[in-house]
Amino acid sequence: MTFFCPRCWKEIKAVDKVCPYCSANISEFENKDFEEKLINALRHPERETVRRAVFILGKLKSVKAVQPLLALFKQTDNIFLKIEILKALNEIGVQEAKEFIITVIDSDVGIVKRKAQELIKIGK
Ligand SMILES: [Zn+2]
Repeated sequence: MTFFCPRCWKEIKAVDKVCPYCSANISEFENKDFEEKLINALRHPERETVRRAVFILGKLKSVKAVQPLLALFKQTDNIFLKIEILKALNEIGVQEAKEFIITVIDSDVGIVKRKAQELIKIGK
């Protein structure tokens, strides 16, 4: 399991009580709230924040994030974000996420299509 600082979202060690990057007191944060915050961050106006939230939700294997991630995938025109979402869905690994990746193989966008094909192959 990978851990992330709930304030600055950098990767930290499970034993860290205080974030070595931003000095946030980790024990103040509930992990559940953190997941909610990340899901809310999917609607953040800054592209980099959204990308980072997608990445972390994947690492956390957040089943709750699957629906919001699917919605974001359909909304966004940003190909790199789409690829990041596919990778996160693949990490979360629930049936619904995998089925969605299979449908993306029919994508018109070559790079997105290839990423979906690659993920399906690795998953087998
Ligand atoms: Zn931090």
